[in-house]
Amino acid sequence: MSTLLVKNAHVLVTMDARRREIADGGLFVRDGFIEQVGPTADLPPAADEVLDLRGHIVLPGLVNTHHHLYQTLTRVVPAAQNADLFHWLVTLYPIWARLTPEAIRISTLTGLAELALSGCTTASDHLYVFPKGCRLDDQIEAAREIGVRFHASRGSMSLGESQGGLPPDRVVEDEDFILKDSQRLIEQYHDPKPGAMLRLVLAPCSPFSVTPELMRQSSKLARTYGVHQHTHLAETLDEEDFCLQKFGHRPVAYMETLDWIGDDVWFAHSVHVNEAEIGLYARVGCGVAHCPSSNMRLASGIAPVQKYRAAGVKVGLGVDGSASNDGSHLLAEARQAMLLARLATTLTPGSSPHNREGGLMTAREALEIATLGGAAVLGRDDIGSLAPGKCADFFAINLNRLDYAGALHDPVAAALLCTPQKTDYTVINGRSVVREGQVTTVELGRVIEQHNQIARKMVNGE
Ligand SMILES: [Zn+2]
Repeated sequence: MSTLLVKNAHVLVTMDARRREIADGGLFVRDGFIEQVGPTADLPPAADEVLDLRGHIVLPGLVNTHHHLYQTLTRVVPAAQNADLFHWLVTLYPIWARLTPEAIRISTLTGLAELALSGCTTASDHLYVFPKGCRLDDQIEAAREIGVRFHASRGSMSLGESQGGLPPDRVVEDEDFILKDSQRLIEQYHDPKPGAMLRLVLAPCSPFSVTPELMRQSSKLARTYGVHQHTHLAETLDEEDFCLQKFGHRPVAYMETLDWIGDDVWFAHSVHVNEAEIGLYARVGCGVAHCPSSNMRLASGIAPVQKYRAAGVKVGLGVDGSASNDGSHLLAEARQAMLLARLATTLTPGSSPHNREGGLMTAREALEIATLGGAAVLGRDDIGSLAPGKCADFFAINLNRLDYAGALHDPVAAALLCTPQKTDYTVINGRSVVREGQVTTVELGRVIEQHNQIARKMVNGE
């Protein structure tokens, strides 16, 4: 049994059912779960570990619902800097074919460290390239080492260029092997219990890189074990054209033909959807991982986030892979989502500043998407808010800093509207993964050095 007391926070944002923001707040944690939340004066006076967060804002841990951590090795590749999705992919696939198990491990540590320093406490990753003996196990080991709550996706690609797909044949895998490996990973690692630090997800990559048969079989397997399913969908108009030509359906209708819809399914992006498709997501419970920076970087389009929310669709945030962002700052991504949703209101035909559908997204709405929204998308009710019984996942930022000067009349909005900051404390499962602004669980200097060496070899083909 171990206990943790957080006390004296300037304000503690709960995101609970009443959306309480508690002045001089704190919480009491036992064995990774929150036991009490409230004003410091109402909490037990002592614990095994005490964090005095005077002058800090405390927020529920953010949830990242879409990433490709290995892409931290291929940020800012010159030939892919100014390309749309398909050209970007075709440029990068041959570089990604040089991944090694060590590259997977180091890039996972790098990306998860960035995420933890930006307030993220639960991350889902979509790994779908497995050359040179790479396995999902390499990533899972690294996630355990750094201590971030993790949803690992067994991604896959099976439809190579010679079969009409987009990726080169040498980065696709045999379908029987993909399914066998998926089953092995679920049996070995998936933890369905509340408070789980590790869950498995099955995630064929996209309509243009896997066959309909692999989609069907993956879904069958996922549902046998009760794990979630994830894929990229309706990201670009090129993808829509591909689906219409190859399958005779728009992307969402194609998913329907495969029975790839339901409350155990979430899609990355879903930018290009019509009203009926939004209605379908709401009805069957499909979630969306909204990745605003990536959508802007690749000029993919603007996802109809406010329409999704108005219809009752679950929406979370994703920083997306670092080759299309090129960072893993989840608090910054929440800010991007807020700003892009505001810009989108000006692009609706006939809209005027006085007549905007749904109004402007507020800082607190963006925070809700980044916390409760992400938790719902991943199918979890044990994270996303600070309340008794929930996981002890939160982060704290010292308010006494240049970037917040003049904004302290509303520190909660400042966290979103001012320049996105790195955290001073990030606590996951009751354990400080970031303390006084430093990652405690891995030696980052060494990781960065190795990361740069591996990236250089991969990009230059050494
Ligand atoms: Zn992606």
